Amino acid sequence: MTRCFIGLGANLGNSHKALQQAANDLEQLPATHAAGRSPIYRSAPVGPQDQADYLNAVVALDTTLEPLALLLNLQALEQNAGRQRGLRWGPRTLDLDILIYGSTVLNSDRLTLPHPRMFERNFVLRPLADIAGEYWQFADGSSLAQRLDACPRNDLTPTTLDW
Ligand code: ATP
Ligand code: CA
Ligand code: CA
Repeated sequence: MTRCFIGLGANLGNSHKALQQAANDLEQLPATHAAGRSPIYRSAPVGPQDQADYLNAVVALDTTLEPLALLLNLQALEQNAGRQRGLRWGPRTLDLDILIYGSTVLNSDRLTLPHPRMFERNFVLRPLADIAGEYWQFADGSSLAQRLDACPRNDLTPTTLDW
């Protein structure tokens, strides 16, 4: 089993419901077990600013699915949630990113691990630290606490939304 962290985001339609459904679906993937859910946060959009705020969270999974198989499963869940591909970083009903897959470092056309842009995003690092712990270490030896310190403090608010 490999411990993975999945970033969830949504800002179109009923985002709260989309996150709840996605977390349930993720934990029911084949060869996969639930390993924790962060609180749900609200964040200002990345990229085009004329779109609604996002809801964000991170879900931890233990899985024996290979990285690419996991990605294909995430993309199927995005499709089921009605995701349409439009403008880059445009509004979406559901976005699922593999943030971390164990200690795997990968750079292929379809998959980069750890997720290359997570270190600039407090809406990813904050919920990740909530469940992985600030002492979590990346392959390069840096800790989540150090990464959070270095991360721009963009608009991010905890919510009281439940799972
Ligand atoms: P960003 O990647 O900056 O968060 P995004 O989530 O809006 O932007 P998408 O349009 O959802 O980007 O994904 C584009 C492609 O990114 C996917 O088709 C996938 O092949 C690729 N990709 C590379 N690394 C990852 C990863 N770690 N998790 C999810 N997708 C990835
Ligand atoms: Ca994303
Ligand atoms: Ca994505």
